[in-house]
Amino acid sequence: MDNGQPVKTLKGIGEKTAELFARLGVETVDDLLHAYPRGYDSFEEPCSVGELKEDEVGTVEGFLRSGAAARSFNGLSIVTTSVSDMTGHLKLVWYHMPYLKNTLKSGSHYMFRGRVTRKKSGLTMEQPQMYKPEVYETLLHRMQPIYAQTKGLGNKTIVSAVEQALKVRVLERDYLPAALREKNELAEYNFAIEHIHFPADETELLFARKRLVYDEFFLFLLAVRGLKEKRQEGKSGYVMERAALSGKLHDALPYKLTTAQERTLSEVFGDLKGGAVMNRLIQGDVGSGKTIIAVLALLLAAENGYQGALMAPTEVLAKQHFESVTDLFTEHGIEKNVILVTGSMTAKEKRAAYERIASHEADIIIGTHALIQEKVVYDKLALVITDEQHRFGVSQREMLGSKGERPHILVMSATPIPRTLAIILYGDLDISVIDELPANRLPIKNCVVGTDYRERAYRFIAGEAKKGRQAYVICPMVEESEMIEAENVLDYTKLLREKLPGLTVEYLHGKLKAKEKNRIMEEFAAGTIQVLVSTTVVEVGVNVPNATVMMIENAERFGLAQLHQLRGRVGRGREQSYCIMVDASGDADKNKRLQVLNRSNDGFFIASEDLRLRGPGDIFGLRQSGDMEFKLADIYTDAVTLKQVSEDVDALLSEDEGLERPEHEALKRKLGQYLERSYERLNL
Ligand code: ADP
Ligand code: MG
Repeated sequence: MDNGQPVKTLKGIGEKTAELFARLGVETVDDLLHAYPRGYDSFEEPCSVGELKEDEVGTVEGFLRSGAAARSFNGLSIVTTSVSDMTGHLKLVWYHMPYLKNTLKSGSHYMFRGRVTRKKSGLTMEQPQMYKPEVYETLLHRMQPIYAQTKGLGNKTIVSAVEQALKVRVLERDYLPAALREKNELAEYNFAIEHIHFPADETELLFARKRLVYDEFFLFLLAVRGLKEKRQEGKSGYVMERAALSGKLHDALPYKLTTAQERTLSEVFGDLKGGAVMNRLIQGDVGSGKTIIAVLALLLAAENGYQGALMAPTEVLAKQHFESVTDLFTEHGIEKNVILVTGSMTAKEKRAAYERIASHEADIIIGTHALIQEKVVYDKLALVITDEQHRFGVSQREMLGSKGERPHILVMSATPIPRTLAIILYGDLDISVIDELPANRLPIKNCVVGTDYRERAYRFIAGEAKKGRQAYVICPMVEESEMIEAENVLDYTKLLREKLPGLTVEYLHGKLKAKEKNRIMEEFAAGTIQVLVSTTVVEVGVNVPNATVMMIENAERFGLAQLHQLRGRVGRGREQSYCIMVDASGDADKNKRLQVLNRSNDGFFIASEDLRLRGPGDIFGLRQSGDMEFKLADIYTDAVTLKQVSEDVDALLSEDEGLERPEHEALKRKLGQYLERSYERLNL
């Protein structure tokens, strides 16, 4: 008995809609129940046309004097009508919805809700939602969930699907021990699921959220504690005694390692030479130079006759690591074989790679999670490293580890987590911190500007390009969207090609084929592309030291941590770098957040300021992106809950280590499902 039935079984969801849901990662009723809202909207009382505010969402009541007009313009279908009252006149416009003409008849009566803009033709509401007055009445003052959407699948459809899912769901037995629920004053599980979607008010929302956040931390920490159990009393079968080659490479590097890098390196080498199994996290801000530590460790393993593997979260990053290691080895005459394994390789290429791994012709293996596929068989895999660890789940880490006979484990992360939290979250790991940037860096120069600054920014980019430098321009969207007003990569590329004649402008986004992404990144790295317009896919790990400008459109839409990661793509070489954050909101509060980045380049400082601005329990602020595997929980703003959960988990396990007691049966099952799910995600 579960909620595993496909969403197609819900009313009104056919094959096509089900496919769109699948794009959002929702296949079953259970998935739908756990696809929490991104935010909530509360509906305001309607106002007169004269009271509407420009650039804000508002509602007016309208009696249509005449039917709507429909026309077609350059293939774009447009439906228009208008609402007038004593205070003014408002034009209503819909795109791509020709069928509305039949609904918007003369004499019909609706509430229209949407964003108001001032156009040449006067005050206009674009793409307004329309409600029958009696329906609007029921929505007034209630919190309406807003979900992640995809083209063709709007919020309304998702809301009604979730409503149905809540009706048909099988209620789950609450797996959290009653004592813990009582002690922490947590909502019952099924109640929490219902009210995270449809809270009557903010208090109810917070109550539901508190429970679900607790659960996310709880299951995560139980899983992590499980790893730790397995790791204990770790005598290693791989003791690394020879260090001549890695020593030689270390001495021949074109730069001197920073003190923090040296300290980290000696901690890592100490583990590898020491006879115990290494379980270590390297934490270091963007650009602090984590990669070279990984490379030296991999070489150490190779020169001792072992294999070493490095796993990266994206193909772009894996490829880049592969190339920089190969170049480094060639340059210094190091004859160790390095190979790349990624999902986009052909079956034949993969087979060849697997053979070279199994025969130990390959010493160092670099790749994406293709590295942990079942078919990959290693020979004396002594060291496994995961880069940008926060992008992986607990079980991915474990999977790569289980490929060898208890290999040494090194994970690297740029997420600035305070030590006390890191100890909780990575309880199974020792921690090294690289808290220093290489000395040859000039601090990045930042500015936060309005959209009127764009022309100057383009001239600036052209100037940098003339000096031989390169630029990134980040847009939040891939393509134009009816629902969201934000810059998109495709249109922006066209625009820049016009604005920057003579420069090569290309674009990158997550929906491109892996091969295409690789090609673009390679050309950008080689300098043949001068301006790269991209979504946040470049956020993780990419290293092109010749790029000196990072221009971020709609900077107000990103979380501070994400902006910091994006900015970390520049300032990686000797040249002065610049970060231009374009704030299109004109909203002073949002601007205040951006000023934090304007003032500082320090990831730890930014995270703490972010927390200060948002305050603990602030759930409406922009979340830190991609941190760990939590949907709702935020390790910073929910830090107090995290600490509490950590204590609760320890207490629980000290009483019932294997969760064998009958009252923990449901919990044990839930933990099993949790682990299974995170394994499943590996095969995406
Ligand atoms: P991250 O910690 O973000 O992964 P990388 O390892 O990609 O950073 O390093 C960023 C850049 O800094 C690379 O081009 C690398 O070669 C260079 N680098 C690393 N260590 C040093 C150093 N000690 N001095 C100068 N440059 C360095
Ligand atoms: Mg990196």
